[in-house]
Amino acid sequence: MKFTPDQLKELARATVNTRPQEIDCDAWLKRVAGYLEVIQKGQPVPPELTDVAHHIEVCPDCRNELDLMLKMVSDVENDAGEKTA
Ligand SMILES: [Zn+2]
Repeated sequence: MKFTPDQLKELARATVNTRPQEIDCDAWLKRVAGYLEVIQKGQPVPPELTDVAHHIEVCPDCRNELDLMLKMVSDVENDAGEKTA
């Protein structure tokens, strides 16, 4: 059975849409800032960041990294609060 180029394109798109996108640690690090902002505001994770959320489920290194970033961010906020108070 042969596919036409159009059918192949359709097939490729369906595969991308149905499979959760796997990203590597570099790609994760580049996009984690947006994800941090979302969880800090307590917002639901938007569809374009689900692969970032998925990566911390499969990669303990990046999960630790995210924990550190969250601590750092809350420390900065606490410092700023003390200075302005
Ligand atoms: Zn990772």
